[in-house]
Amino acid sequence: MFSYRHAFHAGNHADVLKHAILVQILDYFNQKDAPYWVIDTHAGAGLYALNGEWAGQSGEVTEGLDRVLGQPQPPLLVERYLRAVQDFNPDGMANLYPGSPCLALHAMRPQDRLRLFELHPTEGQVLEDTLRRQVKASPRQVAVARSDGFTGLNRLLPPPPRRGLIVIDPSYEDKHDYRSVMQALRSGLQRFAQGCFIVWYPLIQRVQAHEMVRSMEHLPGAPWLNASLTVHKPSADGLGMHGSGIFVVNPPWTLEAELRTALPWLKTALAQDDQARFNLSTSQDPRPTKFGPGSSTDRPGKPHPGSSRASGKGPQKRSPSRK
Ligand code: SAM
Repeated sequence: MFSYRHAFHAGNHADVLKHAILVQILDYFNQKDAPYWVIDTHAGAGLYALNGEWAGQSGEVTEGLDRVLGQPQPPLLVERYLRAVQDFNPDGMANLYPGSPCLALHAMRPQDRLRLFELHPTEGQVLEDTLRRQVKASPRQVAVARSDGFTGLNRLLPPPPRRGLIVIDPSYEDKHDYRSVMQALRSGLQRFAQGCFIVWYPLIQRVQAHEMVRSMEHLPGAPWLNASLTVHKPSADGLGMHGSGIFVVNPPWTLEAELRTALPWLKTALAQDDQARFNLSTSQDPRPTKFGPGSSTDRPGKPHPGSSRASGKGPQKRSPSRK
C-alpha cells in the first residue's frame, strides 16, 4: 500500500488550480436542470484540517490557498472557488479545506449523483465518516467504493443521465499511474464520448509525465483544453514538483475564456520565483506552437512580493485567525 496522504498537500498551489477548475465546471453543469453524475476515481479523505498536524508540517497551504486569499480582485474562476471554500468555514477562519468530493457535493443539486473511489483503507474510512457525520451526505446521492478507481470507472460509464464529469486525480506515487490514466481515459471515452473528463498531472522532471500529456493531446476526436501553472523553476537535482496542470476533455465552452483571465492572476499570486509561468492550450486553436495545437503562454514572471521564497522566509506557521 502506498503512503500518499492528501492532508499534507491540501490547499497547495496544485489544489487551487484543480479545484478552481472543478468548481467552474460544476457551475456550468448546474446551468441546466438535467441531472448529472460526478465520478471521482481518486477521492482522498474529503475534508482536511489546515490547522492540523499534517498540513502544518508541510506548510504547503501557505504557498497555495493562503496566497490567493491575500490577493485583491480575484477573477471569477478564483472568486467562485474561494466562495465554495469559505462555505465550509462559516466562522471565517478557513481552517477546513474541502477536497474534490466535498466541493462536488457542495455544488450538486438533489437530482445529481456522486460516485467516489478511494483505495487507501484509512483514507477511505475517513472519507466515509466525513461524508456521513460532517457533510451529512444522503446515501441515495453519494456512494463510496473502497476499490481501484481506474478499473471501477468503466462499470459506471455511461452514467444513466448521460451527463457527467469524471475526475481522475491520482497521486502518481505508482509510476504505472501514467499509463493507467491513459487507459482509463481511452476506455472511458469509448463508453461515454460526450463525458467531461478532468485529469490532474504534476509538472515534474519525469519522462512519463511529459509523455502522458502528449498522449492526451493526441486523443482522437474529443475537444480538449490543457491549463498548467509553473510556480517555480525546476530543481537542479531533478526532484520535486514545480507546478501542475489540468487536462480537460470535452471542456465547457466557457472555461477557456475564464482561464485566460484567471491564469495570469494565479501566476502572479502563486509565483515563488521569477520562473513562474502559465500555459493554456486547446485542440480548437490551429496556431502551431511548441506547446501544442493551440496555446498561449507567457514569459517567466516576477515573484509576488508576499512570496515566502521570494522574501527568503520559509513556510509560515498557520495563524488560527487567518481569513
Ligand atoms: N481528488 C482529491 C482531491 O482533489 O481532494 C485528492 C486525491 S489524492 C491526490 C489521490 C488519492 O487517490 C489518495 O487518497 C490515494 O489513496 C488514492 N488512490 C491511489 N491509487 C488509487 C486507485 N488506484 N484507486 C482509487 N484511489 C486511489
